[in-house]
Amino acid sequence: MDHHQYDIAIVGMGCAGSHILLQMLDHPGMKNKKILILDDFQGESLDKTWSFWEKGVGNWDSLLSAKWALGNFKTNKVDLDFPLAPYVYKKLESKDFIAFAKAKLQQHPNFTFISARVENILENEFATIKTESESFEAKLVLDSRIDKAFYKDTKAITLKQHFLGWQIKVEKDTFDPDRFVMMDYRLRDPGTTSFIYILPYSKTEALVEFTYFSPDLVEDIVYEKYLKRFINECLKTNEFEITAKEQGIIPMTTYRFEQHHSRLVHKIGTAGGWVKSSTGYSFKLSEKRAKVLVNNYLEEKPLDTGMQNSRFQFYDDIMLEVLNEHNGRGHLLFQNLYSNNPITRIFAFLDEETTLWEEIKIMIPLTSMPFIKGFFKKLF
Ligand SMILES: Cc1cc2nc3c(=O)[nH]c(=O)nc-3n(C[C@H](O)[C@H](O)[C@H](O)COP(=O)(O)OP(=O)(O)OC[C@H]3O[C@@H](n4cnc5c(N)ncnc54)[C@H](O)[C@@H]3O)c2cc1C
Repeated sequence: MDHHQYDIAIVGMGCAGSHILLQMLDHPGMKNKKILILDDFQGESLDKTWSFWEKGVGNWDSLLSAKWALGNFKTNKVDLDFPLAPYVYKKLESKDFIAFAKAKLQQHPNFTFISARVENILENEFATIKTESESFEAKLVLDSRIDKAFYKDTKAITLKQHFLGWQIKVEKDTFDPDRFVMMDYRLRDPGTTSFIYILPYSKTEALVEFTYFSPDLVEDIVYEKYLKRFINECLKTNEFEITAKEQGIIPMTTYRFEQHHSRLVHKIGTAGGWVKSSTGYSFKLSEKRAKVLVNNYLEEKPLDTGMQNSRFQFYDDIMLEVLNEHNGRGHLLFQNLYSNNPITRIFAFLDEETTLWEEIKIMIPLTSMPFIKGFFKKLF
């Protein structure tokens, strides 16, 4: 092998790429493998906050920027407070996570990071990865770039989780710093599934996001209108200062990204279907999948072995179908879900760790809702 040949090249050192890298760095089986990581960090990848729930102590606790032991869900009909134990809701900054992975890789001489944008990957005996000025060969590429075919697809159901968040400072004590708000549906853009998500950092400071699960995007002015209204009408203040902003679009889709794996290029992250399609969460799922992927690689199994659970994929597809068909009634679906289940069951379900019996308990109250009843009639 010359210096441009690698066992594995990872394209993209965002959420998925960094998780895979961290798994590899800690795995004795990877000690003699030559790994290349390429990323130029254009765009938002260093600028996100990643929140997730997990039980008790986790691998990234030293990197957290905040955590919560209590949660809340609200509509105009219900106001549900819940302790999360044994779960904790945690938040870290993407730049801290990526910096942690980068610092760790610098201690391993067989891992190389190159700051460059990948323009093209060709597959022959090896994969050839081309950047503007160099090319590299690898036996396997783990690729975070979303295939363009996804954006042209018309068959899959694709909603977008799109949001604008303002980190705000207010004058008077307004927030409960121990309690994050998963969804507050008191203020909605009519005809859409839209809600407020709140991560409070102190009594006077919080990230407040207006979020849609909907097929179409909206102009910035629309998110801003609802954020202002929420702050005025629900937080009951006109005096606030915006200290930071977060904006994003996450695909929520029945599209099967796995179709883009090829002999030498395996898609990872959003590009590989590592975003939970019914929620848009990906940080914890990526940690899990990175571990499975590295083990599969070392055991010479197909890399996708044990990644997807078709039962949960079916539930996700149903959820997306219902939200797509009845976008203006999503708040009722979530109200029903949160009113009839302890948060621990909901988290376990979303983590794809429930038993069939627990899933039936979740489904039964939902199937009594008229619009879901209609959907099930259509399905069977
Ligand atoms: C604003 C925002 C907030 C989110 N918050 C949460 C959250 O709280 N919790 C959660 O679980 N999920 C969250 N998500 C969803 C999901 O976790 C993220 O989108 C996650 O970053 C997806 O991981 P990824 O590795 O596919 O992509 P990214 O993390 O975006 O990483 C892809 C990397 O590939 C690099 N890259 C792309 N093209 C090339 C190229 N041609 N050459 C070289 N490098 C390239 C990019 O620079 C980037 O660093 C959020 C998403 C957004 C957009």
